[in-house]
Amino acid sequence: MSVFNRMLVTTMPLVPKAIVGRVASRYVAGETLDDAVRTVRTLNSQGAMATIDVLGEEVHEREKAVAAVEEYIRVFQAISAQQLDSNVSIKPTLLGLKIDEGFCRDCIERVVATAKEHGNFVRIDMEDNTTTDATLRIYRDLHERYGNVGVVLQAYMRRTLRDIDELPEHGASVRICKGIYVEPREIAWKGYETVRANYVEALEKLIVRGVYPAIATHDEYLACRGVALVDKHGLARDRYEFQMLLGVDDELRRVLIAGGHRLRVYVPYGRDWYPYSMRRLRENPEVARHVLRAMLSGR
Ligand SMILES: Cc1cc2nc3c(=O)[nH]c(=O)nc-3n(C[C@H](O)[C@H](O)[C@H](O)COP(=O)(O)OP(=O)(O)OC[C@H]3O[C@@H](n4cnc5c(N)ncnc54)[C@H](O)[C@@H]3O)c2cc1C
Repeated sequence: MSVFNRMLVTTMPLVPKAIVGRVASRYVAGETLDDAVRTVRTLNSQGAMATIDVLGEEVHEREKAVAAVEEYIRVFQAISAQQLDSNVSIKPTLLGLKIDEGFCRDCIERVVATAKEHGNFVRIDMEDNTTTDATLRIYRDLHERYGNVGVVLQAYMRRTLRDIDELPEHGASVRICKGIYVEPREIAWKGYETVRANYVEALEKLIVRGVYPAIATHDEYLACRGVALVDKHGLARDRYEFQMLLGVDDELRRVLIAGGHRLRVYVPYGRDWYPYSMRRLRENPEVARHVLRAMLSGR
């Protein structure tokens, strides 16, 4: 990333919310479930699967967590009614992890139980390091009792290779990604190439352990290594998938689908789009150009 882009990233909280919203709209399906359904239908018609995420995080009121559970129940009803090829992704801190772990587990359990009724699946996203242990505990508990649930591991975390050893023996499903939160060096690898190397190491360890890997990346090098590893280990096409975020590198998405790989797109929607959008903008190597253009266009 250029010096100018890096400068803009650090001053990003000063950028007016309206500008952030305009530049980040590509990463979000819209504010309503209907918007998400429309986006998923388009993705399905292009040969991609989806995972729908209700935006929101760091909730400190029980009513908000319960409202999010109700929204996820509506999502499953829409997926079934519209026959969409989509599961859901959830953030533990939207479902009350910062309030109480038991309360959060109960909220996530309601989502997972609803998914089960619909023959569907829930992916528990991984947030910052203050949530890792509790998220893995909740995942292991619900995996044992329901099965239709997966988790995420982050390649930048030093603990990740050890966490793979602690996964359930049978039927585990793990999305492996680089990791997006700003973590201290004591616990997280920082070098770009180091994180890549740990990603490849973790992915191969997941495959060898018989875990269903969801290879989440837009890094062409990692996509290439992912293709090579699933080939090397002879994984059938239904034993892994690639995953990408809405609004990022549609061309790589098409390349992977054309190569015969299953690919799932993360489709977030909702009114609470700001923190998610800020994280996405910080990762966009051309963020300055987009922000400046939006500011100058004045629309
Ligand atoms: C489906 C999915 C789910 C995820 N879930 C989680 C999670 O639960 N927890 C978590 O910590 N992280 C999650 N992430 C984010 C992930 O950890 C990385 O931060 C993110 O994917 C960027 O890493 P990368 O592998 O794409 O590599 P990068 O090196 O960041 O990106 C590679 C290239 O992709 C393009 N690119 C990447 N991001 C953008 C962008 N925002 N806008 C435009 N171009 C871009 C650029 O060309 C860039 O050079 C998820 C990512 C995906 C794809």
